[in-house]
Amino acid sequence: MEPSKVGNMLTHQYVINDPLHQVFNAVNAISVQGYDEQRRVIYWNKGSELLYGYTKEDAIGQKIEKLIIPKSMCDLVISAHSDWIEKGIEIPAAEITLCKKNGHDISVFSSHVMFTNQYNNKQMYCIDIDLTDARKAQAQVTLKEKMLETIFEAIPDLFFLMEPNGTICDYHTSNTSDLYVSPTQFIGRNMSDVLPDDVANKFKTHISKALAQEKMTSFDYELAMPSGLLYFEARISHLKKPNQVMVIIRDITEQHKSDQIIRHQAYFDSLTLLPNRFLSLDRLSQILVEAERNDEKAAVLFLDLDDFKKVNDSLGHEVGDKILVKSAHRLQQVLRKEDTVGRLGGDEFIILLRGLTDHQDALAVAENLLNLFRQPFKIDRRELILTLSIGVAIYPKDGCCASDLLRSADTAMYQAKALGRNTYSFFTPEMNIVMQRRFEIEEQMRGALERNEFELHYQPQMDVKSASIIGAEALLRWHNPVLGNITPDEFIPIAEHTGLIVAMGEYVIEQALSFLNLWQKSDLNNYTMAVNLSPRQFRDNELIPFIKKVLSDTGTRPTTLELEITEGVLMSGQSYIHDALISINALGIKLSMDDFGTGYSSLSYLRQYPFDVLKIDRSFINGITINKADCDLVKAAIAMSHSLGLTVIAEGVETKEQLQLLERLGCDIVQGYYFSKPIPAVQLLEFSTQIHR
Ligand code: C2E
Ligand code: MG
Ligand code: MG
Repeated sequence: MEPSKVGNMLTHQYVINDPLHQVFNAVNAISVQGYDEQRRVIYWNKGSELLYGYTKEDAIGQKIEKLIIPKSMCDLVISAHSDWIEKGIEIPAAEITLCKKNGHDISVFSSHVMFTNQYNNKQMYCIDIDLTDARKAQAQVTLKEKMLETIFEAIPDLFFLMEPNGTICDYHTSNTSDLYVSPTQFIGRNMSDVLPDDVANKFKTHISKALAQEKMTSFDYELAMPSGLLYFEARISHLKKPNQVMVIIRDITEQHKSDQIIRHQAYFDSLTLLPNRFLSLDRLSQILVEAERNDEKAAVLFLDLDDFKKVNDSLGHEVGDKILVKSAHRLQQVLRKEDTVGRLGGDEFIILLRGLTDHQDALAVAENLLNLFRQPFKIDRRELILTLSIGVAIYPKDGCCASDLLRSADTAMYQAKALGRNTYSFFTPEMNIVMQRRFEIEEQMRGALERNEFELHYQPQMDVKSASIIGAEALLRWHNPVLGNITPDEFIPIAEHTGLIVAMGEYVIEQALSFLNLWQKSDLNNYTMAVNLSPRQFRDNELIPFIKKVLSDTGTRPTTLELEITEGVLMSGQSYIHDALISINALGIKLSMDDFGTGYSSLSYLRQYPFDVLKIDRSFINGITINKADCDLVKAAIAMSHSLGLTVIAEGVETKEQLQLLERLGCDIVQGYYFSKPIPAVQLLEFSTQIHR
């Protein structure tokens, strides 16, 4: 018989539970199957069709073990079923894996009931619920749990679950030693009973904040742990269901440290550890606000180490750095606690004095500072004396804001340098005019060489005895279309400062020597040419090679070139200057000490270096006929020079009387307006032919 027919018959015969079947037929989500005592299907609802893939027609009359029971379970099912029928041993509800028509496994939760029908036959009903989704969900939950566990393990953060009132319900940590106290001391307790008051208060505030808003809130706090003071970041978010707060704690001690370092670097100079320019100016602004409020004065002192560049160049940056560090310490010594010393950069420092009643207070500080630098610096068993130039600006008189005051103090510092360094200078409004002019000159000087704005004039040098011309001094002239004629006394120091003197000096050497060559050839005379050299030119490694090259290019005899230097060049005592002078001498070039009498007029220099010529400054020549002291000095200088084998040139001879007196004193050569002003090359050629005629 076809199973379906058997099914129909059986169905008809066994169906007793019509109302029950109606219910089962209505629920597609649950599979309900009915079996007779031989385990043949007598009922198969829509839910069973959907779950197992067998239609009602497929199933009715089939034995359970032929349909959905996996082979391995068949014997078990058959015996369990017969135990139930015969011995009344119930088959308990259980999660089992059955088999679908397409051969796939299916997890179900299977419950069973046994009915006895009117013919006293037993009928088993199986009610199976698909566990696929539940299993999936379960697997998801397990996976999530596993994931969380791994996360908690892997990340060093601490997690706390708290009640909104701060009671700690749960925690997670990968390392219990990260906890402030042991779990037994905080689980179930309120965090305010565990944490220090200030930290607990922060938590309280932020928990309230997290409860009030949707977003996560975070804050930093510090906690004294057995290992030291640590910094933490707490993030708090509100979990609506259940009404709890999740607290995530991260140790940010390292980050905090590096933040502090970065902050320090942004505000402090790494070498001297003094406030840097930024912080100094910020402090100045604060001081000014305070000064205005209290109707007080404040002072800005702009400090610059004299000749620091030379120290750096000759002794190396390491020594330079040590000097800067030691200078910083010295500066701090002079100050009151409330004053500030900062480093603006390079060898520039700033001192801010607050709460002054009188500008004399600043003067006293400036004097103290100068005194402080009278002591030599002891560096690597070497003693170095470095002086300071200080510019002082007073609030509110010299500027109302930090930048104005700094500029005024800088201007005053320039003035202190111009006054000969190792001194201080208070700002005056006139200085601004000087500075303005300086800037204009600096600006115009750039490109002036290329624009051919420079020219050399030559001042004849006359032999006193024969009254004949023996040579000339080359003197630079500058005509600028904007500023007009600018004197060398004004532009040379600026060119020195900017370094433009190096290129200008090369121009002078080239021009002077090519003219000398032409001049010497014009009347076959062994004229000399004196060229001035500035200190800055000695720092140029190319100076000596350049001179050599020009000498050979122009075919000039080195003995007819005379290089004039002032005492200032020698005073720094740098070894490269010494070396350069020796090389100059070795080349056969003459060396001349210019402006003698204006500086220290130290005789030791004349002995120490290979000088050939001494030029007495015109300020002494000017007074020789009227001032006995000047006359005595000139007399002594001449005698001394001669004893050292030097030729003496008197500068600035303007009168016949001066010339006659100099002749009597035994001066060798004179130079001055009496014979001629510095004149262009063409005029000099004329002048020398006239004299010789
Ligand atoms: P210096 O080397 O002492 O030059 C002598 C200065 O005295 C020149 O001024 C000259 O014009 C001036 N003079 C000469 N005779 C008389 C006189 O009888 N009476 C008066 N009142 N003055 C006289 P100048 O040309 O203005 O140069 C000034 C200074 O500028 C020079 O002093 C020198 O130190 C510097 N200088 C000029 N040209 C150069 C240059 O090419 N290179 C460098 N490095 N410095 C230069
Ligand atoms: Mg000179
Ligand atoms: Mg001179």
